[in-house]
Amino acid sequence: MKAAVVQAFGKPLVIEERPDPEPGPGQVRVRVEASGLCHTDIHAAHGDWPVRPTPPFVPGHEGVGLIEEVGDGVTHLTVGQRVAVPWLGTACGRCEHCLSGWETLCESQVNTGYGCDGGYAEKMLAWADFAQPVPEGVSPFAAAPLTCAGVTTYKALKVAGVRPAQLVAISGVGGLGHLAVQYAKIAGATVAAIDVTDEKLELARELGADLVIDARTQDPAQVLRGHGGAHAAIALAVNESAFTAVNSGLRRGGKLVMVALPAHGTINLPIFETVLNGTSVIGSIVGTRQDLAEVFELHAAGRTRVIHETRPLDTVNESIDEVLRGRVRARIVFDLDGAAGAASAER
Ligand code: NAD
Ligand code: ZN
Ligand code: ZN
Repeated sequence: MKAAVVQAFGKPLVIEERPDPEPGPGQVRVRVEASGLCHTDIHAAHGDWPVRPTPPFVPGHEGVGLIEEVGDGVTHLTVGQRVAVPWLGTACGRCEHCLSGWETLCESQVNTGYGCDGGYAEKMLAWADFAQPVPEGVSPFAAAPLTCAGVTTYKALKVAGVRPAQLVAISGVGGLGHLAVQYAKIAGATVAAIDVTDEKLELARELGADLVIDARTQDPAQVLRGHGGAHAAIALAVNESAFTAVNSGLRRGGKLVMVALPAHGTINLPIFETVLNGTSVIGSIVGTRQDLAEVFELHAAGRTRVIHETRPLDTVNESIDEVLRGRVRARIVFDLDGAAGAASAER
């Protein structure tokens, strides 16, 4: 099988021929149909974060495909079934986090495409208990971005406790942000979308943003304060100053939800304003299996649009460059078996 491999941090990925992986007990082997390119895969390939993966590894945590073999003890999934393989590859199932519905905080978790090989491959392994069945009516090319970009922003809005009539700032309208705008609208909020390219701002409007802020020419904090301040700001731009800008645009009692993970990122948090204004800063990491099930249900019900373009896996290095240059409309999805045919825009 073909796989795109990080052999060394910061070097181009190498397309390799590898033997098909064999599922162990509790695992399944998936023939990957579609695999999204999340900005996290780029951080992984660059070794950007304090905890690094160990090369060689196959990135990718938006892999979707059909089960072709089940390992010992797997009884609830069957050959031929379509599943998504998210960042949360597996967790212990016994710790306080796992037992309280916060398996995303489990200290024994293994992350797909980081702690084990991921979806930039024709075949991949998944732990059956964490492989999410994809409902009828959701194509693999839509399911792929939902598997990380969707569940992560859906969860970020949940932890922000967004309610109707609130003003929500979505900072960064990329793979994550284009879905965040839609979940914020579904929650009933007034949405201010912030980005630095005309195309992204236009896309945000098309997806329902009430207000768009061009961070190249406008100060997001000032614009948000001009509207009374944001009740919640979801920080999705891979840029530290964008975090500071939306934090300053919160209204009293507002919440900054940190999601993007710029390399070695830190922000300067003014203590006086944070205390006097009663604002909160919350970190949010992906979402649980239940969150992903809800994300798929919403899409199956026609409530979200996944904007994506499909590419062959061989384009992985050019595709990464385009994401870094902000040239991608929302999400690139690798087409692992040619099923998408010519580049499709949306499904
Ligand atoms: P992306 O590259 O598709 O999107 C980033 C967007 O930010 C782009 O549209 C870009 O134009 C915009 N941007 C850049 N500078 C900006 C600025 N100053 N102000 C406003 N917008 C700006 O990336 P993505 O795949 O959406 O991922 C975003 C980040 O989220 C990455 O750091 C990724 O690692 C992280 N992430 C975190 C989680 C989590 O669970 N916390 C999950 C997935 C991804
Ligand atoms: Zn656990
Ligand atoms: Zn991701």
